[in-house]
Amino acid sequence: MSRAFNFCAGPAALPEPVLAQAQADLMDWQGKGLSVMEMSHRSDEFVSIAQRAERTLRELMGISDDYAVLFMQGGASTQFATIPLNLLGGHDCADYVNTGIWSKKAIAEAKRYTRVNVVASTEADNFTRCPDQSELKLNPEAGYVHYTPNETIGGLEYDYIPDVGDVPLVADLSSTILSRPQDINRFGLIYAGAQKNIGPAGLTLVLVRRDLMGRTRPELPTMMDYSVADKHDSMYNTPPTFAWYLAGLVFDWVQQQGGVQAMGELNRRKAERLYGAIDSSDFYGNPIQPRFRSWMNVPFTLADERLNSAFLAGAEERGLLSLQGHRSVGGMRASIYNAMPEAGVEALVAYMETFEKEKA
Ligand code: PMP
Repeated sequence: MSRAFNFCAGPAALPEPVLAQAQADLMDWQGKGLSVMEMSHRSDEFVSIAQRAERTLRELMGISDDYAVLFMQGGASTQFATIPLNLLGGHDCADYVNTGIWSKKAIAEAKRYTRVNVVASTEADNFTRCPDQSELKLNPEAGYVHYTPNETIGGLEYDYIPDVGDVPLVADLSSTILSRPQDINRFGLIYAGAQKNIGPAGLTLVLVRRDLMGRTRPELPTMMDYSVADKHDSMYNTPPTFAWYLAGLVFDWVQQQGGVQAMGELNRRKAERLYGAIDSSDFYGNPIQPRFRSWMNVPFTLADERLNSAFLAGAEERGLLSLQGHRSVGGMRASIYNAMPEAGVEALVAYMETFEKEKA
C-alpha cells in the first residue's frame, strides 16, 4: 500500500494512525461484534465514545465549563445562519470583518436576519492582508462581532485575536482549529466544519459560552438551537456518529503528538519551509503580506500560468495530490493541516525545485 500526500483543503488528509485504528475497529469495535457506524447513538458504547471525544477536546483546547461543546451538523455554512438566529436576541445589528470569500459568505447569510456593519474590509488590498486592530470600527451596540481567523481560499490568517470589548467575539475556525494554541476565553463562540483538522465531513463543532444561550429569535429551528443541542448532549436527533467517533480518534492523536503546542511548532516549521521555497524563487509567488500568511493554506502561483497543468500533472505522478487552487482564484494551493507530515512538505518543495529547473 502506498499513501499519497494529499494537499486538499477539505475534506483533507487524516492522520494515518487514525485511519488504521478505524480500519481495525470497523468490523468489530472492542469485541462488541459491530462497527461504530451500526451502533445506537443512545447505547452506552456510543455515549462513552462521544463523551471521551468531548473530554479530550476540552483538555486539548483548554475549554472550561463556561462553554458548551456542541457536535452539530450542516457544516460551517449552516452556522452562518445559526449564529445570528441564536445570538442576536434584542440586538438589531451585528459587526462583521471582511477578509475574503468565507467572510463574505457569512456576511451575506447574516444579512437575511439582521443589519450587518462591515467594520473593516481589506478588499481594496485584494485581501492580501488582515486589518489591524486600529482599523476595526466596532459598534458597542452590536449583538456580536464575527471574523474569519483563517481564510482557507485566500491563504490569509490573523496573527492576533481582535479586542472587541464586552461584545461577544465569534470566530470561524474551520481551517485553523487545533493548529496552534489559542486562548479560548477570548471568544464568545467558535465554530468549525470538521473536514480539515478534526475528522470527516458531516460534523460541525461549536463552542459557545453558556451565558450567550437564550438570546434566540423565535423563528429559530429547533435543530439549530444551541441550548437544545446542549440540553440533549448534541443528540436531539441522530448525530453523525461515525464522524464523531473519528473526531475522537483525531483528538487522541493530537494529544499523543504533544497537543496543540506541538502542532503549532510543527505547523510553523512546515509553513516556513514552504513559503521559504516560494520566496526564494521568481518562478513561484504568493501575494499575502508575510505577517498574515496562513500556516494551513498556502496559495501560490507560477510566473507562467500556461505551465499550471504540467505542474499539476507532474505533481500527481509523484503522489502529490489536490494542489489545484480554488476554482475562484486559480493557481495552486497546498493545504498543510495537522495531518500533513513534514515529509509531505519536503516532497512538495523538492518537486517545485525540480519543476522550476526543468521549465525555467
Ligand atoms: N468557513 C471556512 C473558513 C471554510 O474553509 C469553509 C470550507 N472550506 C467553510 C466555512 C464552509 O464549510 P462547510 O463546507 O463545512 O459548510
